[in-house]
This record gives sequence, C-alpha cells and structure tokens, in this order.
Amino acid sequence: MRKRALVTGAGGFIGHHMVKYLKAEGHWVRGADLKPPEYEETAADEFELLDLRRWENCVGATRDVDEVYNLAADMGGIGYITAYHADIARNNILINAHMLEAAHVNGVERYFFSSSACVYPQYRQRSADVAPLAEDDAYPAEPEEGYGWEKLYAEKLCQYYGEEGKLETRVARFHNIYGPLGTYEGGREKAPAAISRKIALVQDGDEIEVWGDGQQTRSFTYVADCVEGIDRIMHSEYRHPINLGTDRLISVSDLVDLVARIANKTIRKRFDATKPQGVRGRNSDNGKLREVLAWEPQTPLEEGMRETYLWIESELARAGRIPELAAGAGQQA
Ligand code: NAD
Repeated sequence: MRKRALVTGAGGFIGHHMVKYLKAEGHWVRGADLKPPEYEETAADEFELLDLRRWENCVGATRDVDEVYNLAADMGGIGYITAYHADIARNNILINAHMLEAAHVNGVERYFFSSSACVYPQYRQRSADVAPLAEDDAYPAEPEEGYGWEKLYAEKLCQYYGEEGKLETRVARFHNIYGPLGTYEGGREKAPAAISRKIALVQDGDEIEVWGDGQQTRSFTYVADCVEGIDRIMHSEYRHPINLGTDRLISVSDLVDLVARIANKTIRKRFDATKPQGVRGRNSDNGKLREVLAWEPQTPLEEGMRETYLWIESELARAGRIPELAAGAGQQA
C-alpha cells in the first residue's frame, strides 16, 4: 500500500538512502534536514530545510504523514562524539523529544527511531575479543558519554509513548553503518570512510595514520542492508529496541588491510595511540534479529567496502585530488 512517509536527516547518509529506498518501494516521501544531501539530488517528493530542535518545525514536518523515520541527529565519528558531549546531547534530545510529541499530536501511525550500539555499557566492551552484545546487555547502563546516554534516554521516551498508547514506536540499534554517499572527510567521518580516503590519497607502498593501536574491533553493516532492516523492523510487531548489525568482528588494522587489497596497494600503517579509538571491542548479537525477522544483513564486508572505496576514490578523483585518476574521471563526469 502506498504510504506517506517523513524521513528526517534526509540530507544525511542513512536518511538519503532511506528516501531512495522508500521511493523505490512506491511511497510518497517528505525529507527534512538542516541541509540538502551533499553528493546527489534528493529523491524525495518534498524536501524541507528545517531545524528539528525546534518544536514548531517538528509539528510542520510531521503533518499529513502515516510514518516517520527519524534519522536526524547531531553525530559523527569517534573524534567528533568524544569532543562535543554537551552540544550532541542537547541537540539530539531536543530533536527526539519534539519529534515524538509532534508525531503523536499529528496522529502518525508508526514512528522509527535510530538508536545506536553506543548505548551498550563500556564495561562490556573492554576487550578486543568481545562477547557479542545482546539487547538486554544495555542495562545496568554505562553508555558512551553524551551521544550514547542521549540515545538510551530517547529509547526510553519511545517506550513510554508506546506504552501509553500515544504512538506505535520501533527502535533499532545500528552497528557501524557504512557505504557510498557518506561523509568521508572533515571530522565527522567514521573509520571505513576515513580509511578509504587515506588509502585512496596515497601511493602504493606509502604509509597512512591509523587511530589507536589498530587492535580495536568492530562489526560493520552495509547501508543497503541498514535501510532494508529499518523497513523490516518498522513493519514488524516487535516494540523493543533491536540490534541492526552484522556479527562479523574485524580489527581496525585488518580493515585497513582489506581496503588496501581492494585498492591493490601495499600500505604501511603508523598507529597513533594518542587518537581516540572508542571502546576496545564491539560486536552485534543477532539472535533477536534472526528470531523476530528471520533475516539479517547479507552484504559481505569485502563487497560493501569495495563499493564504498570505489565511490570515495571517484569523488576524490573528480575533485582532482588523485592526479593519476583525475583525467579519466574528468572525462566520465
Ligand atoms: P548523518 O550525520 O549523515 O545524518 C544525520 C543528519 O541529521 C544530517 O544530515 C544532519 O544535517 C541532520 N541533522 C542534525 N541536526 C539536525 C537538526 N537540528 N534538524 C534537522 N536535521 C538535523 O548521520 P547518519 O550516519 O546518516 O545517521 C543517521 C541516524 O543513525 C542518526 O540518528 C545516527 O545517530 C544513527 N546512527 C548511525 C550510525 C552510523 O554508523 N552511521 C550508527 C549508529 C546510529
């Protein structure tokens, strides 16, 4: 059935992909964000430039829609979220509290909230060889300062709105989403994009800087799997927070090697232990996801990282920053 959907954060990475997914499914889509998408035109039927920290803007954005996908947040990679606790916590709680109430006031049928693996306690993530995190592990709470605490509290707000019959809410905890059309420089980029950029910009045999000692581990989720997972979770009857991630653990050092193979370059790594590395290890337990959806993300890391690397490389080439590729990219453009 054709629905009317609002996607917030539609100028950002996952929001832009979500708009494209919903349009391809035949729905009518309104996008809202502080900024338009950076790398290509939005596919939304309507796109509104709005600051969703403001109540009246949330009321306007949620008018006449059946579903809300709330993907707007002040966020970035580990360097950014460890540096700006006050701004991130304030901006995001204003967005989330106002969006929930506005969706309720406007009679929205279903509301999706994008939470994060950053809600999981630090004390469960002190080893690189970490046990995968299951949903119940979030408590007793000791999440990431600022960003993680806000996400955990916003999850609670979704729960309260659901329990009191104000709004049907769905919540997913994303685990490191990556893919083309995401930020790859400027300070907000995450490890897969940062590593791809660094490798694309050096020659075969050169050295790149890697944050931490490289032994910190993560699991990574391709953006096409993320938006499909959002759709499946949104239309399931499961009302509690659920992981949306993969359970293939890889160290950051091995991720660098994987991207170097894609780029066909030999890369030397200079580890900088003074740079933030976040928790030591983090993996997703997908037991609940499999049980609820009979589905989990499918894209192999090699395949997803190839798409990501090639896109970042082509962007840099187009900007004339990879001299040996610049001419060819110019002809294609
Ligand atoms: P992103 O930064 O690319 O997109 C977020 C968008 O929100 C941006 O375009 C930004 O301009 C917009 N925004 C920020 N403040 C706003 C405001 N006041 N009003 C309107 N728009 C505003 O990030 P993303 O990776 O696409 O993340 C989407 C959602 O997924 C966020 O809630 C994020 O916390 C969550 N998440 C992402 C990851 C990941 O790995 N990418 C992991 C866990 C959770």
